[in-house]
Amino acid sequence: MAKLPSYLPMRVPLLDLSEQHRALGDSIRQAANDVLASGRFILGPKVKAFEKAMCAYCSAPHAVGVSSGTDALLAILMALGIGRGDAVITTPYTFFAIAGCVARIGARPLFADIDPATYNIRPSAIQECIEKNSRLDTDGTWKTKNGEKVRAMVPVHLFGLCCEMDALREIAERYRLVLIEDAAQAIGAEFPFGERIAKAGTMGEAGFFSFYPSKNLGAAGDAGMIVCGDEELAQKLRTFREHGMEPRYFHHVIGGNFRLDEIQAAILAAKLPYLEKWAAARRAAADFYGSELSRSGLTERIATPCESYRNRGLTNHHVYHQYVIRAPMRDALREHLAKREVETAIYYPLGLHEQKCFAYLGYKKGDFPETERAASETLALPIYPEIPREAQRYVVDSVAEFYR
Ligand SMILES: *Cc1c(COP(=O)(O)O)cnc(C)c1O
Repeated sequence: MAKLPSYLPMRVPLLDLSEQHRALGDSIRQAANDVLASGRFILGPKVKAFEKAMCAYCSAPHAVGVSSGTDALLAILMALGIGRGDAVITTPYTFFAIAGCVARIGARPLFADIDPATYNIRPSAIQECIEKNSRLDTDGTWKTKNGEKVRAMVPVHLFGLCCEMDALREIAERYRLVLIEDAAQAIGAEFPFGERIAKAGTMGEAGFFSFYPSKNLGAAGDAGMIVCGDEELAQKLRTFREHGMEPRYFHHVIGGNFRLDEIQAAILAAKLPYLEKWAAARRAAADFYGSELSRSGLTERIATPCESYRNRGLTNHHVYHQYVIRAPMRDALREHLAKREVETAIYYPLGLHEQKCFAYLGYKKGDFPETERAASETLALPIYPEIPREAQRYVVDSVAEFYR
């Protein structure tokens, strides 16, 4: 392939689903038509079938389809009876949903800083967070200075790479915390968990996925899924998904409307068989970025995504929901790329501890230095399964041009 001169403009979007829709359009339309013809729109056979397919895909005993990733976490927290008087540990470097749900049910989010190489929550930071902010009570639980019981941790497998789940499991057991995995960006990612190679979402008491359209497996709207190992928890989640109703119009607990639509389930079931192929294509695209960036001498200035899990016998060590680099003069680089019509994104420009709505938590700038550094230095480059190599080469050439 001829090398494109870097002055040649080429529009490269961050994500382009048009190829996927061209290839699968007929089966997606068929799936939607089947639902229209059936007249069943809520919690029917399509939801059941997709839940079953997700169980098989993840090797998870139970799956509960819900309305979004956010509602998945809300339902999990409710089903576990977490709320006022409780605290939940999570990362300040992620999408708002986790801390938002924790706060919404009346519990306190406690943040622990990230590992600068993986951008995931650092196990030792969780331990420090617990030791610093709480003490062991006579009832065997850890209580914060305000008397809140530390109940759970929600690690996020950010950008498609699993957290150090073996270390997190150990900490969860030591401090008696429920371990909930946010696998919204990491469907299909693997981790060597004890004796087995486990898929993201299946290493804690519960895990959840988001099928927001831009996620690796995207619906035609909002959708989500919870997976768990405990049958009783699965049953509770099903009840909470429908206003705590069992049987109809008899409410034992206060839940919500967290239902997954039949039409979304049918579309997702049609797409699921392609997910592994798409993940492999994302990985190949990431490899190509890596070799091009290194060939252009850029890896001395730019940190590429963490590849350290690769040699642990994993096929899907990373599913590259995003390809995120750490780059000097990030904002100027982003502007330069925009002029070159290369679309980029900043995930995330501000740590959650610095968000205005969380001012009441009492955190301040400087509390989580690695989160703050990542927020000011990282940049997501375009990646999707069908991204053409010429487009990637153009992206790298444009980056190289900036640093020249
Ligand atoms: C997308 C996302 C969510 C929320 O999922 P929705 O389906 O949009 O509610 C939660 N956590 C992370 C890390 C996400 O990327």
